[in-house]
Amino acid sequence: MGETVIPLADLRYAAPVPAIPAQPIPATGLLADALGRPLRDLRISVTDRCNFRCSYCMPKEVFDRDYVFLPQSSLLSFEEITRLARIFVAHGVQKIRLTGGEPLLRRGIEDLVAMLSQALPAVDLTLTTNGSALKQKAQALFDAGLRRVTVSLDSLEDATFRAMNDADFPVAKVLEAIDGAAAAGLAPVKINMVVKRGTNDHQVVDMARHFRGTGHVVRFIEFMDVGATNGWRMDDVVPSAEVVRRIDEAFPCEPTNPNHFGEVAKRWRYKDGAGEFGIISSVTQAFCSSCNRARLATDGSIYTCLFAHEGYDLRSLLRGGASDEEISRAIAAVWQGREDRYSELRTAETARARKVEMSFIGG
Ligand code: SAM
Repeated sequence: MGETVIPLADLRYAAPVPAIPAQPIPATGLLADALGRPLRDLRISVTDRCNFRCSYCMPKEVFDRDYVFLPQSSLLSFEEITRLARIFVAHGVQKIRLTGGEPLLRRGIEDLVAMLSQALPAVDLTLTTNGSALKQKAQALFDAGLRRVTVSLDSLEDATFRAMNDADFPVAKVLEAIDGAAAAGLAPVKINMVVKRGTNDHQVVDMARHFRGTGHVVRFIEFMDVGATNGWRMDDVVPSAEVVRRIDEAFPCEPTNPNHFGEVAKRWRYKDGAGEFGIISSVTQAFCSSCNRARLATDGSIYTCLFAHEGYDLRSLLRGGASDEEISRAIAAVWQGREDRYSELRTAETARARKVEMSFIGG
């Protein structure tokens, strides 16, 4: 592969939805993709902006002052998001995660939470945040109907954390936000740590120690080759097996059963009863065969794989006056045509291929 830099704008191209098959698809109903995988989980990116510049996600050199984020008019409104969410739920979605970018930067995010939780009370609604605004927002989010939250935290050491978020944001504030979330009633609080060799992997056992016995669940995530800008190298990946080995040496642990089919994190529990942690091993133990996730990007396009380079444009349907039934059939056509299994096919070559950025597609 050459060193050609693909303008990021090109990676936000969304194709029209595939031709709706002649064979009618029921307007609602459970869906299976081309490999038999159900649609259960929807991630919604509510903004492509973030106040952090984590090098593994939104490196400063790319997402700089000149970077053109989406204009407000391109973002789905809360009404549009809620309408689409209802249709996805009619097709089997049971869990919705609000993400981004940094979802708490979207003005009025608690209003969206209220709309979704009222429209879809049976759905497991959650949100992933960098925690920078969570302390102020936790109670409003809980009051609006959010019941749990995931907070990203890559280190307990202030210097390491500030360097990784590249925004000089202090770790103490995220720790306060985690306490604030728990005090507001959000439970469990899950903590995402992306483990990068030589950067923060020395913090694995400290993170496990810090959150053992708190009821919070740390999930150790392998550094992934998402997007096209984070300079991913296999050498920087710490395999989850190594993470488990290191924790087990300090705190003996054993695997435990998944909560449900398609759960992203593999669960481990401490033998002394001090709780559990999770590992997310997209690189070394791909879980494509149970992947039941669709992603609604910030601009209303739908993606069927985190590593995709192209989505399908639902916003044009929404804004072009399509009925719920037409949108429902379009979603069905996209899902039923889905064959993605990027992580199972990953090679050094594919890792360098053009892919949409995680901040846009929703992490
Ligand atoms: N801004 C929010 C946050 O920081 O949690 C939500 C968006 S962020 C893209 C969602 C999750 O993706 C975070 O936990 C982040 O650590 C993770 N993530 C981003 N880039 C990653 C990468 N290259 N490999 C593994 N995880 C990554």
